[in-house]
Amino acid sequence: MTGKIPLAGVIGSPISHSKSPQLHRHWLKTYGLAGDYVPMDVAAQDLETVLRTLPKAGFVGVNITIPHKEAALEIADLVTDRATLIGAANTLIFRKDGNIHADNTDGYGFLENLKAGAPGWVPSAGPATVLGAGGAARAVVASLLDAGVPEILLTNRTRVRAEKLSEDFGNRVTVVDWVQAGNILEESTLVINTTSLGMIGKQAMRVPLDGLRRGTVVTDLVYTPLRTDLLAVAEEAGCVTVDGLGMLLHQAVPAFERWFGQRPDVDSAARAAALR
Ligand code: NAP
Repeated sequence: MTGKIPLAGVIGSPISHSKSPQLHRHWLKTYGLAGDYVPMDVAAQDLETVLRTLPKAGFVGVNITIPHKEAALEIADLVTDRATLIGAANTLIFRKDGNIHADNTDGYGFLENLKAGAPGWVPSAGPATVLGAGGAARAVVASLLDAGVPEILLTNRTRVRAEKLSEDFGNRVTVVDWVQAGNILEESTLVINTTSLGMIGKQAMRVPLDGLRRGTVVTDLVYTPLRTDLLAVAEEAGCVTVDGLGMLLHQAVPAFERWFGQRPDVDSAARAAALR
């Protein structure tokens, strides 16, 4: 025992919107653990210096968010296979030997949230449509392939980005033109929005949604608002809907356990804490 209080936090820019501090502090309090979790607004040119300095101040690790997820992967000394495949890190562990260990738990968080919110969903039952091909989409695609989804229909405004993703992840990922996005919903058993469309302050979801069928599972990574237009329309159509807040909660579980030595529960109290 060093007597030091373990510290963790989240680094991004901007960072004031992050819900992670409330969540981690809730868990620390719930389990009676010493520690704290702080938001840090860090500019790109300072990221490496900050990451190399934090362990000296008692930090055991940090979450990384926009726009530093790719840069953090480059800076890290050790990287998990899944973070390499995804091409981004959202969780760093500062090891006692001085090395920075990078992982990506977004895909894990996505899948756990989906399993909790749509327990009847069977990965092998049919194709999944993924709207978007950014960083979050890469984590989602990795987790869906791992889970055994037979085919992913991937569509993105910038087609070349979807094609790159498909090249990286293999022939179970089929690229569909963005203008055709509305036409592939009908044949999908799962539809996921990984774009920022529908988020407060961003453009509205413009993909035609009349192809959504009763029973299709629809989930949105956007969680501000919690009930996006996509989820509202899907609910009307009789789909099973899963909001994006649970992904944020579940992706935090492995990090909290590594940093503070306790596996936390994702329950209604954790959800309420994140929403405070
Ligand atoms: P990103 O790498 O910047 O990707 C953004 C995606 O949105 C790209 O596919 C982009 O398409 C698309 N997009 C943006 N504006 C668009 C528009 N006007 N029309 C059509 N497509 C548009 O961001 P990210 O890290 O993947 O995050 C994407 C979203 O997921 C964000 O809203 C983020 O908050 C959310 N997210 C949620 C969680 C969670 O825990 N729930 C975790 C991670 C991310 P182009 O390639 O054409 O630009």
